[in-house]
Amino acid sequence: MAERITGHTELIGLIATPIRHSKSPTMHNEAFAKLGLDYAYLAFEVGNEQLEDAVKGFKALGVRGWNVSMPNKTVIGKYLDHLSPAAELCGAVNTVVNDHGVLTGHITDGIGYMRALKDNNIDVIGKKMTIVGAGGAATAIEIQAALDGVKELSVFNRKDEFWERAQQNVKNINEKTNCKATLYDLADTESLRREIADSYLFANATGVGMKPLEGQMVIPDASFLRPELIVTDVVYMPEKTKLLEVAESVGCKNMNGMGMMLYQGAAAFEMWTGKEMPIEYMKEILNIHF
Ligand code: NAD
Repeated sequence: MAERITGHTELIGLIATPIRHSKSPTMHNEAFAKLGLDYAYLAFEVGNEQLEDAVKGFKALGVRGWNVSMPNKTVIGKYLDHLSPAAELCGAVNTVVNDHGVLTGHITDGIGYMRALKDNNIDVIGKKMTIVGAGGAATAIEIQAALDGVKELSVFNRKDEFWERAQQNVKNINEKTNCKATLYDLADTESLRREIADSYLFANATGVGMKPLEGQMVIPDASFLRPELIVTDVVYMPEKTKLLEVAESVGCKNMNGMGMMLYQGAAAFEMWTGKEMPIEYMKEILNIHF
């Protein structure tokens, strides 16, 4: 690094709290080094109290862009000049691009999920998808899938504190995209079975399957799946959740959340640098399988 940083090196940031555990600095700095790009990516512990100052500071310094995670993701929009259609509909931003002082907020999580599908030769465009969840990850996937041309989306969620957001997501999709979305209570297992039965793809976009819910899944049992169904999970730790293990035992093609994580970074990288992230190299050095 000492040899690489010069007076010309451009900064890319990451703001959130807590943030020290993030793998994004490693991913982006490895990609910059591999392509010989003169950027450095650094994480900054920033809460919502310092957020406005942080945005002004980055802008004053001419920082090319930055990633945003919790708790700043849902708050930063009001400090930016423009939002992408997906960021607007999600009410969240994970990537900011600074074009000569004009700040645009994007959300690349959903883009990442859709690109990961493509990487696995899974084409859900024009087809029906059933998805569980209404949190940050689920919202990003649902909105992007609808914007990209998924024909029908059946959304399931528990009647918990995310129910209202689930209602809002479905309303946004029906009003602002050509996709037809319907919301169901996850406890309604009869509807869950019926909706999965004529879906091309079933997605878990909740933390069920990951600690502290490891060993659990959002469907009651394997009889909800069939071999032709594609099954995906946003969780990547463990690499194979209970849902994906069951899907595999039924014979379903399946995909974990690592691809979404990699490609959300790749999409941001391209927005800042105009260059494609070296995906195969990243998979190899970061030990990514999906
Ligand atoms: P969140 O807290 O915003 O959303 C939680 C969602 O899970 C809600 O829909 C909630 O109703 C549902 N839920 C919680 N407990 C449940 C249970 N016991 N049964 C059924 N539903 C339940 O979380 P998030 O930020 O959207 O993250 C969800 C998961 O996605 C996490 O495991 C996270 O690690 C993962 N994630 C992955 C990526 C990636 O790039 N692969 C990106 C973001 C998040």
